[in-house]
Amino acid sequence: MKIHEYQAKEILKSFGVPVPEGGVARTPEDAEAIAKTLGGHVVVKAQIHAGGRGKGGGIKLAADPSEAKRVASEILGMHLVTPQTGSEGQKVQSVWVEQATDIDRELYLGIVLDRAQSRLVVMASRAGGMDIEEVAATAPEQILKEVVHPGVGLQPFQARRLALGLGLAGEQLKQGVAFITALYKAYEETDCSLAEINPLVVSKTGDVSALDAKMNFDDNALYRHPDIQALRDLDEEDPLEVEASQFALNYIKLDGEVGCMVNGAGLAMATMDIVKYAGSSPANFLDVGGGTNVARVKNAMRILTSDTDVKAVLINIFGGIVRCDRVAEGVVEALKDIEIDVPLVIRLQGTNAEEGAQILENSGLEFAVARKLKEAAEAIVAAVQRAA
Ligand code: GDP
Ligand code: MN
Repeated sequence: MKIHEYQAKEILKSFGVPVPEGGVARTPEDAEAIAKTLGGHVVVKAQIHAGGRGKGGGIKLAADPSEAKRVASEILGMHLVTPQTGSEGQKVQSVWVEQATDIDRELYLGIVLDRAQSRLVVMASRAGGMDIEEVAATAPEQILKEVVHPGVGLQPFQARRLALGLGLAGEQLKQGVAFITALYKAYEETDCSLAEINPLVVSKTGDVSALDAKMNFDDNALYRHPDIQALRDLDEEDPLEVEASQFALNYIKLDGEVGCMVNGAGLAMATMDIVKYAGSSPANFLDVGGGTNVARVKNAMRILTSDTDVKAVLINIFGGIVRCDRVAEGVVEALKDIEIDVPLVIRLQGTNAEEGAQILENSGLEFAVARKLKEAAEAIVAAVQRAA
């Protein structure tokens, strides 16, 4: 789960990570009032879950409260397009108004789980403020890494090595070590999957603080953190994904053109692979689950067909626990209510496949049937090509 910058800063502050003072505003008037309490010189920052806001015009400095009000009115309501949003952008519903910092140096600090090593890795770089992905690709030697042993946690010498590597010295070195240690503690105790401070800044007055903050959380650990769960902002999520989660369907929007309704995550992945292999690409990952029923299939069909990227739908079901006749009934029921104007390819195999095939045949609906995976993939690619 993702949260907003201002929420991450509140959490980090509670762990002792230094962050600039600020307040969140939903109207230009609120932004002005917050700027007044902060002494005037502020930065107004669009709160959306995507990064790269600065480049998209979502972050602006203001010299006084009336300018804060003006820039807030420009940013609030805008559809902010960044390299991490779609081309239609993300609508800005709130801004974070923060005391402006006089920046001397912009650094990078991040913690992620390295799945290959099964360990947390703390990364630091002097090349902060810019695309860290770009730095990693073109100048990987500029990124320092400390791998953390899970049994002992981040060691003081590791924090010192990173802080020294960032070029911090004297009082700043102390602050840097404390910063890294506090960020690590926050990561561990809140079950993050990513914590990233880009930039971590050294101000002209010599203080170290988090100018930006990103925290993502492990969904599987959220049950331990109801306070963090409460920070979920559905406005920032794909509406179809939100709807699917209400029906406990595992649905993830992708950028291809084939809507895939599958049961089981393994079959879903295999289906996406064969669709790709046959020359098209999946518009989503939709797993209706093991013990599916008519209602679930109906909801799944509705979600699939309301995605305008979907040019054809592939239903690929292996009946193990799930019965193919139930799935077939669900499809027929769904198509009574839902107008579907894209071609449909259905593959049912396993328990009650014959009964399922019979139900589909008797329905008088229009669709192609495939028996083998390869056939299904080829049929769906042909359908997409016809549709285009
Ligand atoms: P992002 O673009 O979404 O990553 O947003 P950031 O919070 O990282 O801000 C982008 C850039 O805006 C930073 O790298 C800074 O250069 C600049 N910026 C943000 N806050 C301040 C501030 O208080 N003072 C100054 N001078 N620049 C700032
Ligand atoms: Mn940033």
